[in-house]
Amino acid sequence: MRILSLLRSWSSGLLLVLAGCQTPGGSLEQAADAITESSYRTYVATLASDGLEGRSPGTPGGERTVEYLEQQFRELGLQPANGDSYRQEVALVELTAAPDARLAFARGETGMQLAYGDDMVITTRRVQPEAAIADSEVVFVGYGIVAPEYGWDDYAGLDLRGKTALILVNDPGFGSGDPALFNGRSMTYYGRWTYKYEEAARQGAAAAIIIHDTAPASYGWEVVRNGWTGPRLQAEAPDGDAGWCQLEGWITHERAGQLLEMAGQDLAGLQAAAMRRGFRAVPLGVRATGGLHNAIRRASSPNVAGLLPGRERPGEYIVYMAHWDHLGRAQTSSGDTIFNGAVDNATGVAGILSLAQAWSTLKPAPARSVLFLAVTAEESGLIGSEHYSSTPLAPLEKTAAVINLDALNPLGRAEDLEVIGHGASGLEELLAEAARGQGRTVTPDQRPEAGFFYRSDHFHFARRGVPALYIKSGTRLRDRPVGTGAALVAEYTSSQYHKPADEYDAAWDVSGSLQDLRLLLEVGVRVANDRGWPDWYEGNEFRAVRAASAAARAPLD
Ligand SMILES: [Zn+2]
Repeated sequence: MRILSLLRSWSSGLLLVLAGCQTPGGSLEQAADAITESSYRTYVATLASDGLEGRSPGTPGGERTVEYLEQQFRELGLQPANGDSYRQEVALVELTAAPDARLAFARGETGMQLAYGDDMVITTRRVQPEAAIADSEVVFVGYGIVAPEYGWDDYAGLDLRGKTALILVNDPGFGSGDPALFNGRSMTYYGRWTYKYEEAARQGAAAAIIIHDTAPASYGWEVVRNGWTGPRLQAEAPDGDAGWCQLEGWITHERAGQLLEMAGQDLAGLQAAAMRRGFRAVPLGVRATGGLHNAIRRASSPNVAGLLPGRERPGEYIVYMAHWDHLGRAQTSSGDTIFNGAVDNATGVAGILSLAQAWSTLKPAPARSVLFLAVTAEESGLIGSEHYSSTPLAPLEKTAAVINLDALNPLGRAEDLEVIGHGASGLEELLAEAARGQGRTVTPDQRPEAGFFYRSDHFHFARRGVPALYIKSGTRLRDRPVGTGAALVAEYTSSQYHKPADEYDAAWDVSGSLQDLRLLLEVGVRVANDRGWPDWYEGNEFRAVRAASAAARAPLD
């Protein structure tokens, strides 16, 4: 174990000898040894078991998951983080569209009827028993982006009220590969479906339909179908979520092509036009009619939070987070209907439990407090983490860092390590140093076009300023032939991700997961025992919001 005597002052770039790092290497080593394969496997196997029925929030399986987490937190000696409770309740509404949801397009005498599930999915976020559009004019709005900082407005000069926006997924940077546009191939928030629906609603659209395409979406149609049919959860809003479009949906690439053909247009041509600066939206002369019936159910599902109080500065925190929820049970498929979510995200929750085990053996206890946070309803749109970050149990301005675990590697030890959203904050320097200790190298996202930084829970902390770290084990596996790791990850994405096949297998090689956990322990210990505050790098989109709360953080002595 290297002696942790020198720490880089990541916020200033100066080298400082810090007295704050009081954990001798031996103790860190000992704590790391408390992360064991057998308990990690037990956690994953339990969380991914059929008995928890896919861990859907607001269901009996979800409740059993929460009870299991409370019991583990208690046994690990963590204190309840919310008064005398481990729970932070999140009010949810569940809307389930009936299978007779319909969507049709017409132009004069010609028309096309789409099959729900196979050709399209539609939903609504309005809490009402019925949502519909009738004879709504369809407008192709390109990527559906209004981004003043890029001088980009796909809705310029349009009045979209009552109309239906037909929208491309991802952003013009991905489409064109031009690094000067929207961060090139790396996805920006403008590329995410969440943004597309938000913007269409701001424009007053009655409906917003995204054209699916596997490469720019980064997942296949099955993921859309599984995610957008069946019960859908959202946070309960006082206005009944009336600000959203009547209908939100997706259409397959093939059907979109036929629709545009019917309009006398051509999808490839429109795509090419949409990625060029100065693109103007195209009214299609087509009208959309459709709707759905909703079953409405109110539910509540908690974030689960356990605390290890700091020894010297208990009012300062670091957070380890993982979402405990997954997709529950499939509505339509026969055979195995349970979405066990073993990799996604039984592994991450098992990770924070294993880390809590390590932290609770750390002597002396850390200077800052450590919060272990298992959030709910990630799969429904990062709802639990959004709720936590808007009503935090530990003040965000005094939260030094959040470390998010979502999908650990079951493929064995890797030589590399990916930072999702690489180049963001000084936490990466600590990570790089810890990685060197394992003989590993840190690399940027290998699929920045997938926008993973915006697709997991730390995003809500980041946008409120908290420096966030989200890593993935690399794909250069130590004990396997070159190319195996990448091939296995691709295989997981196409045949297991968000499918009932994402199951725990005793044959998993969890050595890579354990290695990553040791790494995240070391990074956490360094932050928790230091007096400094990690910061976003100059030029980062979240630096200004963090700076706004600088006064709340104690200066270096
Ligand atoms: Zn996940």
